[in-house]
Amino acid sequence: MNAAISIRDEREPFLGLHGTDLIRALAAAYPGKVAAISSFGAEAAVLLDMVAVVDPSLPVLTADTGCLFPETLEYRNCLVRHLGLQDVRILTPEPSQLYCRDPGKDLWWTDPDACCQLRKVEPMAWASRDFKVLIDGRKRFHGGGRADVEAVSPWGVKLKAAPLAAFGPEDIEHAFIKRNLPRHPLVTAGYPSIGCEQCTSPVAAGEPVRSGRWAGSAKTECGIHKSPWL
Ligand code: SF4
Repeated sequence: MNAAISIRDEREPFLGLHGTDLIRALAAAYPGKVAAISSFGAEAAVLLDMVAVVDPSLPVLTADTGCLFPETLEYRNCLVRHLGLQDVRILTPEPSQLYCRDPGKDLWWTDPDACCQLRKVEPMAWASRDFKVLIDGRKRFHGGGRADVEAVSPWGVKLKAAPLAAFGPEDIEHAFIKRNLPRHPLVTAGYPSIGCEQCTSPVAAGEPVRSGRWAGSAKTECGIHKSPWL
């Protein structure tokens, strides 16, 4: 049996599940091998609330690039306290790699793919090496490469799960209200999607959710969802 067939088979118990049902089923099937990935951005509270409902001790991996908005750092602390998350792992790039590969701290401008690779993809790849399942908050309504995201998909030798894949904007808003979740302070300032400070712009009402990310360039993803790294 080749690896592709084996991975497809691994999805079968979870097909048709979403939300907390999916997270619960994955956590039961792979104890100690499931982690969530979060940017603690505009809609992060909805996924993290589901994780906390299932098991607040599930690891949450989050990249701290050193370029995040101060509001995101405050919001991260606020959400962790509010939800009672017990194992949030803040991932930072290697100082020696920063020194060697971005001595002028301008890589975000000269080569943003390389900057994301250094500050997000590599720390996330290292931190997730021992996990079988990575859960994230991608949703189809965000469009672009996310328009056809599946709730469970093969990811190299791992499984990726997107419990909110089928959620629409109204579902997200409903979850915020129903669960009384705190909001990222930049949302009301016009940021419906929030990454690093120098690469995120506010967007006008009605514009695509992620249009303020790397605005004016062809780049649409940081890379941690783009291709299997392990
Ligand atoms: S989002 Fe911008 S600043 Fe952040 S890691 Fe990527 S290129 Fe660098």
